[in-house]
Amino acid sequence: MTELCDRSGAELAASLHGREVSAREVADSALRRIERLDGRLHAFLRVTEEAAREQAALVDGRIASGEALPAVAGIPLALKDVLATRGIVTTAGSRILEPYVPPYDGTPWARLRAAGSVLVGKTNCDEFAMGSSNENSGFGPVHNPWNLDTVPGGSSGGSAAAVAAGEAVWALGTDTGGSVRQPASLCGVVGLKPTYGRVSRYGLIAFASSLDHVGTLTRTVLDAATLLSAIAGHDPFDATSLPDPPADYTQGLETGVEGLRVGVLEEWMTMEGIEPGVAAAVRQGIERLAALGARVDEARLPHAEYALSAYYLIAPAECSSNLARFDGVRYGLRVGDGATDVADMNVRTRGAGFGDEVKRRIMLGTYALSAGYYDAYYGQAQKVRTLVIRDFDEAFERFDVLVSPTSPTTAFRLGERTEDPLAMYLSDIFTIPSDLSGTPAISIPCGLAPDGLPVGFQIMGRLRDEATVLRAAATLERDLGVAPRPPLLEEFPL
Ligand code: GLN
Repeated sequence: MTELCDRSGAELAASLHGREVSAREVADSALRRIERLDGRLHAFLRVTEEAAREQAALVDGRIASGEALPAVAGIPLALKDVLATRGIVTTAGSRILEPYVPPYDGTPWARLRAAGSVLVGKTNCDEFAMGSSNENSGFGPVHNPWNLDTVPGGSSGGSAAAVAAGEAVWALGTDTGGSVRQPASLCGVVGLKPTYGRVSRYGLIAFASSLDHVGTLTRTVLDAATLLSAIAGHDPFDATSLPDPPADYTQGLETGVEGLRVGVLEEWMTMEGIEPGVAAAVRQGIERLAALGARVDEARLPHAEYALSAYYLIAPAECSSNLARFDGVRYGLRVGDGATDVADMNVRTRGAGFGDEVKRRIMLGTYALSAGYYDAYYGQAQKVRTLVIRDFDEAFERFDVLVSPTSPTTAFRLGERTEDPLAMYLSDIFTIPSDLSGTPAISIPCGLAPDGLPVGFQIMGRLRDEATVLRAAATLERDLGVAPRPPLLEEFPL
């Protein structure tokens, strides 16, 4: 396919800097793709067409004046709608924020904007990023471009679907329990969750602050490294931001995996509920790593089996506190008609504005934090979190990276898990451990399962060691090839 929006960020940057194409043409290509496809996908909650054209024109002006531009300049970007954008409605996928227009830009977007990034729109997501299928969006679900009857994963499903379909060249999402990697896996794109604190959370609408990570969705590993380099770095506006100096994560991607110690989580590969097609594709990826010179052996994270339970106490506990601010006074929706006093208005607003899953989480979290239950639930979960962190520390004494499937299944059908929260929660069983530990992890496509849907290969690394994770991912990607575009694109050419 030769459409501009089907090229990678690196290819487009080269064409832009070589003046073979203009940023305006690139933006138009992505906007046309959105117009053509998004009625079916619903990956976007808002398309920022005018702003995109203005930003592209600015980039063209800078190129014409001979300025050396950053690698992200002129590349069409989509932002998950949990990231604050000044003057552009930001809803977090929730009716309670339907009318909310942020007065400021969050740091990741502020950095990209200053570098000449072209925003094509805000993407659909599960309400407040709570979910694994996008079906919890207050504005209707996203459809997976690989099969419109299946989910794109969640919660950053809009971002993943948009990148898979070429509606944007790359996107930002957030990963609290897997929300960048799991949708990347289900949509056949690359999803990177960096180390906790690597990317500022300033301007991110909080779900669970100790677990929230801003991450990238791209088609290639090189693009993930490029986009990460543009958004990473210390930010005084986020108290948990790492003090590390800025780095160029695109360095060293070519060096290969000779001698790299790769730990395979065998217990995960054989777990009940994992689809045979997923396990087979991941096994093949592992064999390729070994063939490329990696030293592969079995690894264990003995407490990871308790990670999901701990997560579903810690994340709701933090969300019950974070979401207290949506009170009908400070942000967005207010339902005041017939209210007898402020507390009553508060109850009516939250009752009408929040969806079922968000209410479930707030109740779970409030319960886990209440006097008399705090030690048994929240306190216990924090102890488990420490055990999981120690498991990773021990595993990384023997191994440089750990590998596994990203998700136990390929994309499932819309509606299939909506009545069974536990089945839905199990989607994140392999991604949650590295959110609890804050360690970096990536999902890259590794072929298709017999159902014709993409499989994701997860590579997890040491704290602050994105470099090794990206190097292993880039090596495997060179061997397996970049994932194809979904067949849907041939049905609907521009
Ligand atoms: N699916 C998980 C949840 O519902 C993770 C979501 C996320 O990472 N934001 O909490």
